[in-house]
Amino acid sequence: MEEHFEYTEVTNEEHRDHIATVDSKGKRIWIYAKKVSGKFFNYRQVLSIFLLIVLFGLPWLRHDGAPVFLFNILEGKFILFGNHFTHQDFHLFVVGMLTAVVFIILFTAIFGRLFCGWICPQTIFMEMVFRRIEFAIEGDANAQKRLNASPLNFDKIWKKALKHGIFILFSIVISHTFLSYIIGTDEVGKLITSNPAEHWQGLLAMVIFTIVFYGVFARLREQVCTTICPYGRLQGVLLDENSLAVAYDFVRGEPRGKLTKARQGKKSDCKDGCSTCKTNGSTCPSDALNDYFTELTPKLGDCIDCKLCVQVCPTGIDIRNGTQLECVNCTACMDACDEVMLKIDRPTSLIRIDSYNGIVHQKKSIWNTRVAAYSAVLVALIGLESFLFMSRNPVETLFLRTPGMLFQKTEDNQISNLYNYQIINKSADATDDLTFKVTNVQGATVTFVGEKPTLKKDEISEGAVFIKLPPEQIKQSKTDLHIEVYSKGQMIDELETTFFGPDK
Ligand code: SF4
Ligand code: SF4
Repeated sequence: MEEHFEYTEVTNEEHRDHIATVDSKGKRIWIYAKKVSGKFFNYRQVLSIFLLIVLFGLPWLRHDGAPVFLFNILEGKFILFGNHFTHQDFHLFVVGMLTAVVFIILFTAIFGRLFCGWICPQTIFMEMVFRRIEFAIEGDANAQKRLNASPLNFDKIWKKALKHGIFILFSIVISHTFLSYIIGTDEVGKLITSNPAEHWQGLLAMVIFTIVFYGVFARLREQVCTTICPYGRLQGVLLDENSLAVAYDFVRGEPRGKLTKARQGKKSDCKDGCSTCKTNGSTCPSDALNDYFTELTPKLGDCIDCKLCVQVCPTGIDIRNGTQLECVNCTACMDACDEVMLKIDRPTSLIRIDSYNGIVHQKKSIWNTRVAAYSAVLVALIGLESFLFMSRNPVETLFLRTPGMLFQKTEDNQISNLYNYQIINKSADATDDLTFKVTNVQGATVTFVGEKPTLKKDEISEGAVFIKLPPEQIKQSKTDLHIEVYSKGQMIDELETTFFGPDK
């Protein structure tokens, strides 16, 4: 009986001892992923185009002349949805990062690594841009293999030169966009149009970014996801039997076996010996023969072991071995397998997004104690972040008594202290006609040293002021002051400081 089919069963977990892209000698196995097409690829393509438009378009968005998004880590200036943040908002950043981490944990616990395959810029650029260019120039996986193995000839030289030329061009575009998020499109424009000698640091940054992006997409590729990115490593602890992920339905698929004629029966197996048989057994109208084949061939699963799901995998794994950290949930294997199932007239979704419990017990629930706990923490963190954001003042004022200066007695018989102030304008509006008022001490006056500051949006201004108090208001050596900050007659901030005077 055994000669009629091939049967493969996963009996060990040996594949988990090494990654699919490294051989036993530690040498890299280059992945030649086959072109994929199908329903999920089409969805991904639409989503990728949308995300690429967003990624390249965001740095150009303006609100009142300022970028809507900016992440200037060099100067500590950040703009998110038009809201300006500075290093004074570090607490918001910390809570925001914690919220993002808990969100990722919750998302992964429920949906596995779906983010990697569908949203991560690394996968989108790799699979939807760079690999598409490679397919267009060098052909599908087998043609690429042949080209790489061929001796250096004209065909190989022009194809490689064109491919890497376009790769470098795209890497330049990506590095300019990346820099636009950091220093803004205006500054990037200046870097491009002015003399390189005047801004060699900017040029150097651009060259380094370009080399990094080119290296990532031309050489490193899936290694970023399988060995460098820490997110994949987290999967092992974040996924459980209820987590959704791209999964092979081993209940339906196993035991796998090649689609041989024996699987459907063949003429020589016919006991009836019908001399007019032209059907080769597979569509024999005789119940007797069909019953015979059912007995002859042990019940095989739907997987015909064509290995198409492995050939399209950009990380080179066999999803039939179970969930693996290399799987970026790109769903390419789902498309490939669906195509096979349609061809052999079996139901699709042998590989699908499902959980272990969904496959084995047909249980679809994603809600469990762990998910409930993560959700509660996430809601609490979002609440805290929203509260901190709403109560955040668009103008931040700091007052520090000038070091080394004691109180002074002025000609008009007042006691004065000198203060250094710093005002940070995080709002999108200019702040001018600034005044400070001491509200808890009668007769107190505040005088600017030099010009009154005018703060453009997102600007920091520093200067000095004298605060004078009438001596009769000073009851002890240290008086607490409450100061209100006004711009164009409107209170924009308030703060507390102390005033030093003579001991009474
Ligand atoms: S594509 Fe489907 S049928 Fe072919 S080997 Fe993979 S799981 Fe089996
Ligand atoms: S196993 Fe499937 S979903 Fe996972 S990376 Fe490979 S092709 Fe993508």
